[in-house]
Amino acid sequence: MTSLQNTECIIVINCGSSSLKFAVFSLEGETVLVKGLAERLGGPDAILKIERDGETTCVAIPEASHHDALQQVTARLTGLNPRGIGHRIVHGGEKFTGSVVINAAVMTAVESCGSLAPLHNPANLIGVRTAQELFPQLPQIAVFDTAFHQSLPPRAYLYAIPLSYYEEMKIRRYGFHGTSHHYILLETARLIGKKPEETSLITMHLGNGCSACAIQNGRSVDSTMGLTPSEGLVMGTRSGDVDPALHQFLQDKTGMRLSEITTMLNSQSGLLGLSGLSNDMRTLADAAANGHQRAQLAIEVFCYRLAKSVCGLIASLDILDALVFTGGIGENSADTRSRVAAHFKILGVRINETNNANHGRQSGRCISANDSRIPCLVVPTNEELMIARETRRLIS
Ligand code: ADP
Repeated sequence: MTSLQNTECIIVINCGSSSLKFAVFSLEGETVLVKGLAERLGGPDAILKIERDGETTCVAIPEASHHDALQQVTARLTGLNPRGIGHRIVHGGEKFTGSVVINAAVMTAVESCGSLAPLHNPANLIGVRTAQELFPQLPQIAVFDTAFHQSLPPRAYLYAIPLSYYEEMKIRRYGFHGTSHHYILLETARLIGKKPEETSLITMHLGNGCSACAIQNGRSVDSTMGLTPSEGLVMGTRSGDVDPALHQFLQDKTGMRLSEITTMLNSQSGLLGLSGLSNDMRTLADAAANGHQRAQLAIEVFCYRLAKSVCGLIASLDILDALVFTGGIGENSADTRSRVAAHFKILGVRINETNNANHGRQSGRCISANDSRIPCLVVPTNEELMIARETRRLIS
């Protein structure tokens, strides 16, 4: 047996209804050994992309199922010795306050949370079942997007609707992106030299989905996302908060069905709906720079609504160590950060534009000016690594 064959690793799986994203981390050193994505599964143009040793391979896998795709991935893990598999599970309801080793009871509980996340949980479970079939000997770990937010107090998680809806149907605010917000807490605490349990932050995860989180002494105390990931901030294609009377109004005016309104709010709104151009911030930034007025408007609304929500979240904190930007937009768009921070002038936030333009890479991740009353940081997120760490913790 060569030394490579002894490379112990953790497989991380993020399974969607027609996709399977994966990453393989070395158990020691947290290096990414292999990563990739299978897309359009079940269709004629299903494809698998794998990166290993600096080389990217694309394989057509027409009509491949999740099982077929994972089998193809497994065949490319030669020389590696998987020790456990971590799965991203979107909704853990109130049942899961942390990551768990998956057993039959956990599967049943995740299934029962399915009605809260019908687009996500069933797909996540396909990933678990497929991995169980292919790696029956390995422990499987569930890492929930909601778990980090289970520390929200009732004042933050209750909707002001009759309490019976919460008591009987668990209708409440859950919050998502918890794996990312938790990772950012740990990274930021390390960067500012504090213990995570003594660190209080506002973290802003700005990707295609966007959410902000208030963290008081290492615990999530509020999130902009709610019962589903639709609540809160303006996102790539999601509207975020709208008036609860909107559905009725639109139905009366246009005859749209509820499901059509939901699709419009989830898939045709946000940056895409406002700009009429794209859900992608890069495209909008380029268009805005070239005078595209609706792109400019979309960016303005996105930044203002984010700033307004952050100010709301501050109400939940006694102390604030830093405002932290992450996600594709948060990590890469200096313009977005600058615009958001401009709304915090009254809080004494000031940005160092040179460090901001460098995304804080030459300034210990800090992008605020020395005299800013609240430090601002850019901290890249790594949800896969967080899942790998959780998996390693639970199998050891
Ligand atoms: P996901 O939520 O799917 O993981 P990401 O975190 O990768 O998405 O974020 C995607 C968003 O990040 C897109 O809106 C994209 O345009 C934006 N983005 C990535 N790089 C840049 C950049 N250099 N400038 C502005 N926006 C960027």
